Amino acid sequence: MDIEEFRMRGKEMVEYICEFMSNIHNRRVTPDVGPGYLRPLLPSEAPQEPESWEDIMRDVESKIMPGITHWQHPRFHAYFPAGNSFPSILGDMLSDAIGCIGFSWAASPACTELETIVCDWFGKAIGLPTDFLYFNSGSKGGGVIQGSASECILVCMLAARAQAIARLKESAAHAHLDETALLGKLMAYCSRESHSCVEKDAMICFVKLRILEPDEKSVLRGETLRQAIEADVAEGYIPFFVSITLGTTACCSFDNLREIGPVCKKYSGVWLHVDAAYAGNSFICPELKYLMAGIEYADSFNTNTNKFLLTNFDCSCLWVRDRFKLTGALVVDPLYLQHTHADTAIDYRHWSIPLSRRFRSLKLWFVMRSYGISGLQAYIRNHVQLAKRFEALVRKDARFELCNEVVLGLVCFRAKGTDKLNQKLLSTINDSGKLHMVPARVNQRFTIRFALAAPNATASDVDIAWSIITDYLAELLESKDV
Ligand code: PLP
Repeated sequence: MDIEEFRMRGKEMVEYICEFMSNIHNRRVTPDVGPGYLRPLLPSEAPQEPESWEDIMRDVESKIMPGITHWQHPRFHAYFPAGNSFPSILGDMLSDAIGCIGFSWAASPACTELETIVCDWFGKAIGLPTDFLYFNSGSKGGGVIQGSASECILVCMLAARAQAIARLKESAAHAHLDETALLGKLMAYCSRESHSCVEKDAMICFVKLRILEPDEKSVLRGETLRQAIEADVAEGYIPFFVSITLGTTACCSFDNLREIGPVCKKYSGVWLHVDAAYAGNSFICPELKYLMAGIEYADSFNTNTNKFLLTNFDCSCLWVRDRFKLTGALVVDPLYLQHTHADTAIDYRHWSIPLSRRFRSLKLWFVMRSYGISGLQAYIRNHVQLAKRFEALVRKDARFELCNEVVLGLVCFRAKGTDKLNQKLLSTINDSGKLHMVPARVNQRFTIRFALAAPNATASDVDIAWSIITDYLAELLESKDV
């Protein structure tokens, strides 16, 4: 494809995207295909000779689209939102065209500097303590954009692990032990409601993880952590890392940071990470900032703008209070990556696992500038209000019960009755292709999650979803099939 053809195809693609977005509601939300559907539709080998763009796009519509789960569909209410907006799409498009790999300042100065600035903008907007900002005199903190929340937590766990091992090697009681023996003593903590990535990160870090029971509202309490730490210390373990969640995946509960913070402080050397992958974005609204009370105790904090801030995947923001602790765990410095400004500039390659990195800040910059803080607040408030509307519908219908405290854009509910009834209800709805939701276990019970997801969701979307749900429940109850 030469530049003239790209000019033409690019315009056609924008047209295709506009049509796709405008008419997405006419498609099934979930595809009606089984595993392996695509294999017989495509040749078993890549084409030897170039194919025409028309042929490729024809296959997109006839073969690929039927296998897509439409996360931007107004009836998609599963998981959490997959951030999406036109400014963000344009940002990614330009980033792809610039095509730089900004692993160091020298590898593309604007790529590094915009990331630092945008992280400061966003950190200020959500009200992080100024210690987390880069451009703050005397601060050792700063922000970075990672590919996922899983990576944010992993790099913090790695940093905490490196810190703990260095400290232990200096202590008289442990100086005789080698790193492998010390590793066996380290204990990390999270709640049963934490995202499974914390468990995976502990596996990768080769450290033990104590998974603690939250209270009946799915909230991890300070006293639970304190008791666990004391019991572990008595057994000879060394607590080194706690990951708490603000806005859990299952039911959007908030661990009690104000209680947990002082417990971590008491055991100096315990790194407190706050995973707010979904909810953190909402702190951009002044009335929701109370949800991060206790943030002054945290060593690190992450939120995914690609979940709840209109930014396309991937854009997971991480801030640390002391960037030198992070880079201390991750620096390797071969000659070919060195440059003359290394002492005065940020090299993000030392903040993350991969070397190569995309120009992700461009799309977040486009989003923040195009919407302004006020536009982003309006987007969050719309989702919160619509969740409240759905909550009211659940409360009004005696056949249903509510299963979480509705704070942001997630409602957990169930039909009164057995787990089997709810499983059947959910699978019938999902099989219909009219609406998509996923389940969660809340307080040991099977519940259905209704997440606001579409960027421009409306009250009528909520009402349509509710009528689909209630129609299927009525049908099920009538059929006596459960
Ligand atoms: N933490 C929370 C609270 C989440 O809800 C999720 C995903 O939904 C994650 C972490 C994992 O996010 P990622 O896919 O960016 O690794």
